[in-house]
Amino acid sequence: MLWSGWGDPALARELPEQVRALLRDFLGVRAPDVPAVGLESVRLPPVALPEPLLGALAGVVGSAYVLTSHEARVRHTRGKSTPDLLRMRAGDGSAAPDAVVLPGSHEEVAELLRLCSAERVAVIPFGGGTSVVGGLTGSGAGFTGVIALDLGRLDRLLSVDPESLVASFEPGVRAPEAERLLAAHGLTLGHFPQSFEYATLGGFAAARSSGQASAGYGRFDDMVVGLTVATPTGTLDLGRAPKSAAGPDLRQLVLGSEGAFGVITSLRLRVRRAPDERRYEGWRFGTFAEGTAAVRALAQEGPLPTVLRLSDETETMIGLAKPDAIGSGGSGCLLIAGYESTPASVSGWGSAAARQAGTAAVLTRMGGEPLGAEPGEAWEHGRFSAPYLRDSLLGAGATVETLETAGFWANLPRLYDAVRLALAGAFGSPLVMCHVSHVYETGASLYFTVVVAQEGDSVGQWEHAKEAVNAAIVAAGGTISHHHGVGRDHRDAYAAEVGPVGVGILRAVKDRLDPAGILNPGALIPPPAA
Ligand SMILES: Cc1cc2nc3c(=O)[nH]c(=O)nc-3n(C[C@H](O)[C@H](O)[C@H](O)COP(=O)(O)OP(=O)(O)OC[C@H]3O[C@@H](n4cnc5c(N)ncnc54)[C@H](O)[C@@H]3O)c2cc1C
Repeated sequence: MLWSGWGDPALARELPEQVRALLRDFLGVRAPDVPAVGLESVRLPPVALPEPLLGALAGVVGSAYVLTSHEARVRHTRGKSTPDLLRMRAGDGSAAPDAVVLPGSHEEVAELLRLCSAERVAVIPFGGGTSVVGGLTGSGAGFTGVIALDLGRLDRLLSVDPESLVASFEPGVRAPEAERLLAAHGLTLGHFPQSFEYATLGGFAAARSSGQASAGYGRFDDMVVGLTVATPTGTLDLGRAPKSAAGPDLRQLVLGSEGAFGVITSLRLRVRRAPDERRYEGWRFGTFAEGTAAVRALAQEGPLPTVLRLSDETETMIGLAKPDAIGSGGSGCLLIAGYESTPASVSGWGSAAARQAGTAAVLTRMGGEPLGAEPGEAWEHGRFSAPYLRDSLLGAGATVETLETAGFWANLPRLYDAVRLALAGAFGSPLVMCHVSHVYETGASLYFTVVVAQEGDSVGQWEHAKEAVNAAIVAAGGTISHHHGVGRDHRDAYAAEVGPVGVGILRAVKDRLDPAGILNPGALIPPPAA
C-alpha cells in the first residue's frame, strides 16, 4: 500500500489528456508548486513512550512485534481521506503513533489493554488503515504516548459451519483473503466496498461498512452474527443465535464503535453460497429524478438486483461509473445493475436471468432505456480503480474527495440539493458528482464526489467546506454517515444527530468499558458539553 496514496504504486493511473483539459479549462487546476515529499522526509515527533514501557509492551507481544522505525510509524499515521493524504504528501507526520504493536491473540490484546490503561497509553486499533473520517488520527495529548494496535497478525479463518452458513474469522483478515478462504468452501461474504483490496473484516464491523453489492448481500453489519471484543475491563462475547429477544442487542453497540469501546478480536459472519453466474448491464434515464423513482420502485416492489447504482447527470457526463474510461461519459443518468445466482439458486434469489428480466420490466415501465451489458461490465472491470484515479488527480493539482449520507426517499431530493448548495457556497463552482449507492425499501444513500483546484491551504479549504456540508446534512434531516463512520471528522455532527441523551449513553458505555479513556481518544464519542 502506497503510504501517501492508495494501493499498489505499480497500478498508478495516468490521467487522459481529455480529463487534464477539463480540469484545466473548467476548474483552473494547475500542477502543484511543491511536489510530494518522500517517505524518509516525513517529519515525525520524537517517540514519547519511555524505554521501560516499550519493553513492557514487548513483554506482551514479543520484541519483534513492537515497531518504532520511521517507516512503520509513517505507515500508521492517519487513514486515507484526502486531507490525510494531502498532509502526508506535505510531510506532516505530526499524528504518528510512538510505536506500532502487533498482537498475536485475543489474550495478548486483552493484556495490552490492561497495561495501556494502567500506564495511560492511548491505543488506536488499526485494521487496513483505510478510514476516511479521521478514525486513525492519533492524539497523545494527556497520555504517556500513543500506540497503533495493528491487527494484521490476527489473520485466520477460525471455522466454517456450512450448515448454518456461518464463518468465524479473526479481525485482521483483509477482504480479498476472506473471499479466497471462503471460496475454498464454495462460499462468499459478498462484501465488496471500493476499499476491498486493503480493508479488514474487523474494520468493516467497527465502521459499519457497506459494499457495492449491498442490494443483494446487505451491509456488513447485517452479516455479523457474533463478536468477541477485548475491552480494558474484560471480554464481551456476543451472539449465540441469529436473532434474539433477550434484551437489547449488544452486538449493535459494538458495530460502529470504531475502536472506542474495545477491540474486536473475532467475528462470526453470515456467509452465502458463491454464485456461479454474474451479469451486469446499464440503463439510461433522462433525469436523476426519473432514475431515482425507478430504483425506489425496485427497492419497494422488487426484484432487487445484487448491485444497483444510479449516477446523476454530472457523474454520468464525466463517466465516473467507468473509472477505466473516465472522460467518456454520456447524457442522462446511468444506472448500473448486477445480478447473481448460485448453482442451485438455494439462496432463494432465483436465477440471475429471471431477476434481470423482472428488473427490466420495472425499469422499462419507469422510462429507462436499456444500454446492454457493456456499461455494466465496464463498471465491474473498473470497480476498484477510482482510488488510484484520486492519486493521479492529487498529483495533477486537484483536490478530490468523497462524502456520503442517507435519508428516507421522501427527503432525498432535499438532501441532494442541500449538499450541493453547501459545496457551491464553500467552493464557488466545484465539480460535484453524485450517485445513489445503496437502496432500502424506505430510503437510500447518496454518495458525492467533489473536485476543485488545489489552492493555498487545500486542507483548510476542504475542512471549511466539510463543516458546511455536515451542517447542511444535519439541517436537511439526513444521517451524517451511511457507511464511512464518524471518526473525528463527523463527531460533532453525530452529537447533533443523536442529541444530548444519546451522547450521555455513549459516554456512559465508554466510561464503563474504558474508564481510563485510552481507546481511540477523540474518535466517535463527543466530549462532555462545555
Ligand atoms: C478509497 C476508499 C474507498 C472506500 N470505499 C468504501 C466503501 O465502498 N464502503 C465502505 O463502507 N467504506 C469505504 N471506505 C472506508 C473504509 O474502507 C471503511 O471504513 C472500512 O470499514 C475500514 O476498514 P479498515 O480495515 O481499513 O479499518 P481502519 O481504517 O483501520 O479502521 C477503521 C476504524 O475502526 C477501528 N478498528 C479497526 N479494526 C478494529 C478492530 N478489530 N476492533 C475495533 N476497532 C477497530 C479503527 O480504530 C478505526 O476507528 C473507503 C475508503 C477508501 C480509502
